[in-house]
Amino acid sequence: MSMLQHSDNDALARCVHCGALAVGPCAECHSPVCGDCCVLTEGGSRTWAICVTCEKRSGRSLRSGWMTVIGWIAIPILLLLGAVVLLSRMVAH
Ligand SMILES: [Zn+2]
Ligand SMILES: [Zn+2]
Repeated sequence: MSMLQHSDNDALARCVHCGALAVGPCAECHSPVCGDCCVLTEGGSRTWAICVTCEKRSGRSLRSGWMTVIGWIAIPILLLLGAVVLLSRMVAH
């Protein structure tokens, strides 16, 4: 009986992080995760459960998002500086 019980447990999905019984798949990578290795994240009106790996990845993408914002600010400033340099040269001539 204990052998049967064991095989039944093996058929169930295991957490990819710690090997505990998974509660459900990650919303991002669909790998089975347990309650301890997933974080709840809010995407619009729905609440998602994502694994800790995807949580780290989304944190990284958030940082690159900030880099994009900085780029969007820096590019017009550089263009403006270039225009100022061109204008000053035209005035000097
Ligand atoms: Zn786990
Ligand atoms: Zn994931």
